[in-house]
Amino acid sequence: MVQKKSHIETSLIHTDSQPINDFGSLTTPIFQTSTFAFSTAAQGAARFKGEEEGYIYSRLANPTVRVLEDRIAALEGGEKGLAFASGMAAISSVLLALTSSGDHIVCTNGLYGCTYGLLTLLQDKYKVGHSFCAMTSEEELRKQIQPNTTCIFIETPINPTMRAIDLHMAARIAKNYDIPVVVDNTFSTPYLQRPLDCGCEVVVHSATKYIGGHGDVVAGLVVGKSEFIGMLAKTTQKDIGGILSPFDAWLLIRGLKTMHIRMDRHCFNALKVSERLQDHPRVQQVYFPGSARYPDYDIVKQQMSQGGGILSFEVKGNREDAERVLDQLKLIKIAVSLGDAETLIQLPATMTHSTIPPLERERMGISDTLLRLSVGLEHWEDIWKDLNQALLA
Ligand SMILES: *Cc1c(COP(=O)(O)O)cnc(C)c1O
Repeated sequence: MVQKKSHIETSLIHTDSQPINDFGSLTTPIFQTSTFAFSTAAQGAARFKGEEEGYIYSRLANPTVRVLEDRIAALEGGEKGLAFASGMAAISSVLLALTSSGDHIVCTNGLYGCTYGLLTLLQDKYKVGHSFCAMTSEEELRKQIQPNTTCIFIETPINPTMRAIDLHMAARIAKNYDIPVVVDNTFSTPYLQRPLDCGCEVVVHSATKYIGGHGDVVAGLVVGKSEFIGMLAKTTQKDIGGILSPFDAWLLIRGLKTMHIRMDRHCFNALKVSERLQDHPRVQQVYFPGSARYPDYDIVKQQMSQGGGILSFEVKGNREDAERVLDQLKLIKIAVSLGDAETLIQLPATMTHSTIPPLERERMGISDTLLRLSVGLEHWEDIWKDLNQALLA
């Protein structure tokens, strides 16, 4: 049994899920089944009515997936969790649940590229509007909230500019308007940042990244109040159907068990690499939340336990110069995604954020020379050596 006040390192490994096997299997079994047999017609009817606990069909719930959902809920300090086939399945399910035609979303001035794509789709097809907001002050945020605003969507640190948003401030304002704050906590994981503790209502994750941690699964998670998660499960999850497979849930349960150790090393390596980059003659600017020289460092200190494993930096010159750096790398892989054991680098302007119109991209602070580095678990000196030779080449 996990004690109520267990440390997070313990909660990553144990949960109070009801035991799901009679054989004492230490690791969670994979329930690779689409359906569950009822012993009688009355039992089937009772399960559908919700009068009896139990499984029906794996799009509605699955025991392996349930273990993961309970674990992420405990880690984020929320009442319930829900697992999805991808981070985007989780985010789209949440935003569809929180809006109707004619509603409006306020979001951070900078978002994951496909979240931006989703907002555009919601606007074009369903007349759900949105406004971008830097959220650097209460006044600024208040100004963007309209009578039809039904939620605030926040990424912090923002991908890929790494600006941080004050979650306590956003939650305080949202309470005044009685609307929820949804936070994409992919970059931080609950080990570094717990948005619900800051007063926010809903947390979403691309579990593809640090939670899986090994670059071998695509998945999404949502955590929030029981009522909200129950509503998602019965509507935008059940009827749209972006559920997680039992095997992928099993990979994530496994990933969580080592997440704290991996995160400590990602953070340490990123700090070391960022310090070297700061003083490099070929580097214009470094954006790393864990650095005291970072403009939002006060916010980071208040709501994150460490600066994370991602940093971005601008190389001197133009886009071709940035691309030349990528092409010179030997150890570091040119790839989108992040949070893997391997160090990954990408050029957001031509890759993850290439579908955002150039002017809009510029407004978000994504220049053509901005590179995003997901610092891996290799020895930091080897990562630095490769980066340095590519910058100097
Ligand atoms: C990757 C990512 C997503 C999308 O997640 P998928 O699992 O790829 O669907 C959303 N938000 C952030 C911050 C991400 O890094």
